[in-house]
Amino acid sequence: MEISLKNITHYYRDGTGDQVTPLRNIDLTMRSGDSLVLYGPSGCGKSTLLFILGCLLRPSEGQVDIDGRSLLHYGEKELAELRNRKMGFMFQACYLLPTLTVKENIMLPFWIQGGKARDGRTEKKTVELLLEQLELTERADFLPYQLSGGQRRRVAMARALANDPEVILADEPTAELDEEKKDFVGKWLGEQAGKKKIVVVATHDPQLAVYAGRVYSLSQGQLQEKILGKGAVYSS
Ligand code: ADP
Ligand code: ADP
Repeated sequence: MEISLKNITHYYRDGTGDQVTPLRNIDLTMRSGDSLVLYGPSGCGKSTLLFILGCLLRPSEGQVDIDGRSLLHYGEKELAELRNRKMGFMFQACYLLPTLTVKENIMLPFWIQGGKARDGRTEKKTVELLLEQLELTERADFLPYQLSGGQRRRVAMARALANDPEVILADEPTAELDEEKKDFVGKWLGEQAGKKKIVVVATHDPQLAVYAGRVYSLSQGQLQEKILGKGAVYSS
């Protein structure tokens, strides 16, 4: 799979009608097996770039190609299918459904569209494995309000991965996690790229940078490649 952004500019109108332009003339190509950490302070445009990569937002200007085909040629229905089948999105606000248990929240992608797991048994196994990997097994039947912030974040991550997506987009995945879990999540995201997925993580946590193939900082609408220090030895 390949996602290619060409000359992407995006602007919003703020409350007073002024224009905010978090992305200016961005070029970026991600292929299966690529991992990228987008680094920069809050408000610099990381989420906007993730939304565009995940086809949740069409940019104001520029071209998005998915496997060489322009996004302009996708209707809304086809776009929804692309997102449901290929993209795993972990939002900053988690967006867990409050009336569903941990296990049910993770099952959501299967309910929305029959995922790659074909029968109830395979789906159950997938969810059990994710619960185990993310240390949530004992919380499986809890409701979101009964969890700590870090646990909620891990449920959001498990849900993003349930469908075995080709693209994983994670917005501040280590917020509210302690040091040990940050490390665990970083390593784990790094491993996903090794499984031929595209992984893009937006963060202002420098600790995560060591796990990515590429690290870009986003500043004044521009991407800049950061040269990694010794930590790069551990990158995938
Ligand atoms: P980050 O993820 O790095 O915190 P965002 O992409 O969320 O940055 O935001 C980039 C800039 O665009 C910020 O100045 C933010 O206030 C502004 N912005 C984001 N979304 C909207 C929106 N829907 N309407 C208006 N301004 C927005
Ligand atoms: P985190 O992932 O945020 O570091 P932990 O998984 O280490 O959190 O959780 C710390 C402990 O506190 C766990 O036993 C967790 O179940 C418990 N806990 C935290 N908040 C709540 C809550 N609102 N309801 C029930 N248990 C909670």
